[in-house]
Amino acid sequence: MEAMPKKYDVVIIGAGPGGIFSAYELTKLAPELSVAVFEAGHVLWDRKCPIDGKRVTSCVHCSPCAIMNGFGGAGAFSDGKYNITNAFGGTLYEYVGQEEALSLMRYVDEINCAHGGDVTKMYSTAGTTFKKRCMQNGLTLLDASVRHLGTDINFIVLEKLYDELKGAVDFYFDTPIDDVEAVGTEGDPAFRIHSGEAAYTGRFCIISAGRSGSKWMEGVCKHLDVPTKSNRVDIGVRVELPSVIFDDITDELYESKIVYRTAKFEDNVRTFCMNPHGIVVSENTGGIVTVNGHSFEDEARKTENTNFALLVSKHFSEPFKDSNGYGESIARLSNMLGGGVIVQRFGDLVRGRRSTESRIAEGTVRPTLAATPGDLSLVLPKRILDGIMEMIYALDKIAQGTANDDTLLYGVEVKFYNMQVELSKDLETRHKGLFIIGDGSGVTHSLSHASASGVHVARYIMKELAQST
Ligand SMILES: Cc1cc2nc3c(=O)[nH]c(=O)nc-3n(C[C@H](O)[C@H](O)[C@H](O)COP(=O)(O)OP(=O)(O)OC[C@H]3O[C@@H](n4cnc5c(N)ncnc54)[C@H](O)[C@@H]3O)c2cc1C
Repeated sequence: MEAMPKKYDVVIIGAGPGGIFSAYELTKLAPELSVAVFEAGHVLWDRKCPIDGKRVTSCVHCSPCAIMNGFGGAGAFSDGKYNITNAFGGTLYEYVGQEEALSLMRYVDEINCAHGGDVTKMYSTAGTTFKKRCMQNGLTLLDASVRHLGTDINFIVLEKLYDELKGAVDFYFDTPIDDVEAVGTEGDPAFRIHSGEAAYTGRFCIISAGRSGSKWMEGVCKHLDVPTKSNRVDIGVRVELPSVIFDDITDELYESKIVYRTAKFEDNVRTFCMNPHGIVVSENTGGIVTVNGHSFEDEARKTENTNFALLVSKHFSEPFKDSNGYGESIARLSNMLGGGVIVQRFGDLVRGRRSTESRIAEGTVRPTLAATPGDLSLVLPKRILDGIMEMIYALDKIAQGTANDDTLLYGVEVKFYNMQVELSKDLETRHKGLFIIGDGSGVTHSLSHASASGVHVARYIMKELAQST
């Protein structure tokens, strides 16, 4: 028999940036509130991916995946790039307004700085000559400021946030929530959440389940009759090259989001997640291995390479609805051929031949990820591959050497977008008191937007509480 549910004012599902920042803001604004955070993954210091490059060289499909789940969410081992912009990273501004979205992101930056992030640098595209250079070569540089915490400082910020929150919030780790029920009445809403035999109730419920929780979220939305739609996936490769080729750009801007419109198909290809002197990593989403990148603030951990993704967005129209399924199939194909991530020299791709261990070894770029040499043209659809190749040649004009034969391409990189949940401008579902925030809502796709959505909902809940007393 299920025990009597423990009662809270606010229950939060997911301890990623969205969950952490909603808990943070709630406890700052109203320390007397009872708040609980439920997290499927482990506490921060128990999050350890077994891949060590020696004994374990590729993904062994842990459940939950320590990279994606646990305190800090998918961002815990990320490069910690907090972009302050409405130009990418999500569409929070469509809900809360342009100015408010930026103000929330600046507030998140202040909190990060107050918790150890102040030793890092804020970069900006404002006033850069690079914008003109891009334009002259058919490329568009998107406007943004970016705080680059780096994987190491990002971890310290998370440690400090956890230390501060743990006295004010009940954290339940290794506690995947199975189900969410709306159990209140219209005037007095409440939500009961279940994890195995245990149940908890909250007057308010914030779900911030991120990308790793997207399948689960789909079920929750169906069960609670919350409308959703899904139509986008980004597919591409991660490029790795000697850092000197991009140094003048990354030294000035650190992260540059550059968009190229292909001549052939008029698709947009964009750079994503640039990691100067970083490493390429593999990532496991629900058993599908894709590629990503990290970099470090610590000089000792810097490499001689820079990596970034080149992605093509695929928007599907009716009747096809399963955009994530499409991306998954492409990733599965690369996993089938390469046993995980495939790596190919650009020169081999252009010549229509696979890369081999010896061709990679003879090249001048030392791969930072042990991936399987192969042929990306057997994996990526022609339209996407053509777009990526066109963009590499366009980038070569602003960073000469990008299109060198030895440039490495890792595939595939897929950005899965969660279904878009129907929400009010305050990110509330049709059930009063139930909020869906962060990447799980489809509204955000980044650390800063996800965190900002958490702050916004916390402030909104405080307003609601003030009105009801
Ligand atoms: C390797 C990597 C690098 C990245 N680098 C950057 C970067 O530099 N800059 C940037 O802006 N973005 C980056 N991102 C994206 C960024 O991490 C996400 O946008 C951000 O973490 C989203 O926050 P969130 O709170 O919405 O979700 P998440 O961070 O995904 O957190 C969701 C949490 O909910 C938990 N959860 C899910 N379902 C349940 C359930 N049923 N019960 C309990 N808990 C559940 C999960 O375990 C997870 O911990 C990166 C992502 C990855 C994977």
